Amino acid sequence: MQITEIYKSLQGESTYAGLPCVFVRLTGCNLRCTWCDSEFSFYGGKKMTIDDVAEEVAYLRPCGAGPARQPLVEITGGEPMLQEREVVPLMERLLASGYKVLLETSGERPLGRVPRDVVKVVDVKCPHSGEPDTFDLANLGSLTAHDELKFVLSDRTDYEFARDFIAQHQLAGRVNAILFSPAFRKDATGSRDTSHCLLDPEQLAQWMLADNVPARLSLQIHKLIWDPAAKGV
Ligand code: SF4
Repeated sequence: MQITEIYKSLQGESTYAGLPCVFVRLTGCNLRCTWCDSEFSFYGGKKMTIDDVAEEVAYLRPCGAGPARQPLVEITGGEPMLQEREVVPLMERLLASGYKVLLETSGERPLGRVPRDVVKVVDVKCPHSGEPDTFDLANLGSLTAHDELKFVLSDRTDYEFARDFIAQHQLAGRVNAILFSPAFRKDATGSRDTSHCLLDPEQLAQWMLADNVPARLSLQIHKLIWDPAAKGV
């Protein structure tokens, strides 16, 4: 499979945020989101076998700090499911080796073959993402109680889309978490604070409370810990 990078950092945006994690970033994406901070993963990378990847993950193996003390691995991209033929057996291999495996995906590709024990963190694209209407609604049937849905929001239109999507598809209680995350300026650098958010988290919090939305406000903590422009963190 084609791999952009494998590195250890802290998980940044899910209910696993803050835990040590090894990230396996696969190369390539078929979408072009306006706020994408992973454009460096669209091309290049290097070919690695499943054995190569498993060996590198084992070398970096993070301590298991979650409730079950399982070491955490996140499969991300780009869009990892574009390499489904290789990434599915990789996830099975990592599960068999005792890792808690997260899969970060846009949900544009079918998710039916993702192993059931993998925690899917599915990013449903909002109207101003530049890639609206790309989420495959059939994937709602593949979600389990341990999965998470994420909406990256840049304004009121995105917020209302996410709020109404949850209600329309009766998603509250069907997944472990529904994350509302303010979009971050892609050219942000320097100061490590929420001034780079395109949607003020305080404003988002007020809307969520006013509408009683069954979602969790999620900040990308890696953008607040390290320089927002830093890679491999
Ligand atoms: S799906 Fe993810 S990697 Fe692909 S363009 Fe959108 S944000 Fe970037």
